[in-house]
Amino acid sequence: MQKNAVQFQKGFSLPGFFEKYGSEEQCQEALFAWRWPGGFVCPECGHTHHCVLNTNKLYQCYHCHHQTSLTSGTIFADTKLPLTIWFLAIFLVTQTKNGISALELKRQLGVSYCTAWSIKHKLMQVMKERDDSQPLGGIIQMDDAYWGGERHGGKRGRGAAHKIPFVAAVATSEEHHPIAMRFSQLKGFTKTEIALWSQQHLEPSCTVISDGLTCFTAVTEAGCKHVPIVTGGGADSVKHEEFTWVNTMIGNVKKALNGTYHKVGDKHLPRYLAEFCYRFNRRFNLGDMFPRLAYVAVRTAPMPLRLLTLAEQSG
Ligand SMILES: [Zn+2]
Repeated sequence: MQKNAVQFQKGFSLPGFFEKYGSEEQCQEALFAWRWPGGFVCPECGHTHHCVLNTNKLYQCYHCHHQTSLTSGTIFADTKLPLTIWFLAIFLVTQTKNGISALELKRQLGVSYCTAWSIKHKLMQVMKERDDSQPLGGIIQMDDAYWGGERHGGKRGRGAAHKIPFVAAVATSEEHHPIAMRFSQLKGFTKTEIALWSQQHLEPSCTVISDGLTCFTAVTEAGCKHVPIVTGGGADSVKHEEFTWVNTMIGNVKKALNGTYHKVGDKHLPRYLAEFCYRFNRRFNLGDMFPRLAYVAVRTAPMPLRLLTLAEQSG
């Protein structure tokens, strides 16, 4: 029942989208309301009295004379694109089932590949920062996972060369239903890495269930309770009910990334993982994903292309 409710929910239709956000004016009004729900606030000094310089659509503060545009200081900063294109991109990124590649976005938006790539990665960055700011709670199924290499006949799993390690964590209810998930790239499966990750991503009240891999004991450094379940590892561990969801979700993320994207650049893996998790964590409310992502986007710091193309920090 629950599965059907997720799959058959209404979402946000394309005609509905164009009715609401089809014109540049509609997008500007919506963005203003998301950025300043209680009316304009100067980002420099916090005063609210201002005038609008209509020639270049700048808001000027009466108090400190600082001029700001609707998009400055947000993930949309310095964009040369109309907001209608950005909004359509957010629509496509949030409403397509398994996400949309930069190549597909390029076709749908009618922009260059480079522009589409930049839009896509900026929106994934917003998703990542948002989820990273919200620690998981409850019962956590945790496991080590690896990206890459498998299709080239290399050694699988732990200890395999040229594979990127990432920690997979799925928060479940007492009834074993999955609530939320977080997949983060790590430098490796060491106690230090797991302790740092747990301090950022887990509530201290969590109970973490993992296999016997030594590094997982470090979740206790974040105040969490640790329940190790020793398995034979590999295929054996899949059989344990305690790991059903984390194993399923590791399989799903790999299938989704391989299916949607021609190639996932290794150095950008954290963003792709974050996008998958963001979508999963909000699966019960597909229609709301559009305004919620836009709302967070105006609260996410600018990410110039040169930063976007750098390899990301782990975690
Ligand atoms: Zn001011």
